[in-house]
Amino acid sequence: MNSPDVVARLLLATVEHGPALTVPQAQGNACIWCPTTLHTGKGISLGGDAYWCPHACPPCHAARTQVIATYADWNDHLLTCTTCLQGAPCDSARTLREAHVQARTAVGRPSVWCMNCLTIMRPGAVWEPHLWQSRRGPELDYRHTGSCSPRSRPSEHEASSAEPDGIR
Ligand SMILES: [Zn+2]
Ligand SMILES: [Zn+2]
Ligand SMILES: [Zn+2]
Repeated sequence: MNSPDVVARLLLATVEHGPALTVPQAQGNACIWCPTTLHTGKGISLGGDAYWCPHACPPCHAARTQVIATYADWNDHLLTCTTCLQGAPCDSARTLREAHVQARTAVGRPSVWCMNCLTIMRPGAVWEPHLWQSRRGPELDYRHTGSCSPRSRPSEHEASSAEPDGIR
């Protein structure tokens, strides 16, 4: 399990990389994930500074923390499991993926996109988290395990009609 500090840092990174916040959201007076108004001291601080201090209502904070925690645990497993390192996800990896998909579904974001081929992960596809550092900080992406299937390259129709749906 990842420490709460690690999870909180990754959660803040997804907020920083996400859409711009409204003034009340940036000031911590409204939940950044739902319309709930947060009266002083009621929200949970996600970090930031005096001018940008996103807060969340407790239910959203719990649900989003679960998304990040399941992502981080799955990612850690892939870095240390000898079976998974050989490109064949083990039973534990499948369980970790299922937990992550459930957490995403709970926040209404079940769909996942591959950062390499930019297609949505289809049922039966084998995919994994890809946590990497950009100049902005940690990036929580996903990719197909092994090589992307040629058939999963984006068609023009898909490329023009669909928005990437990352973790944020
Ligand atoms: Zn909320
Ligand atoms: Zn494994
Ligand atoms: Zn792919």
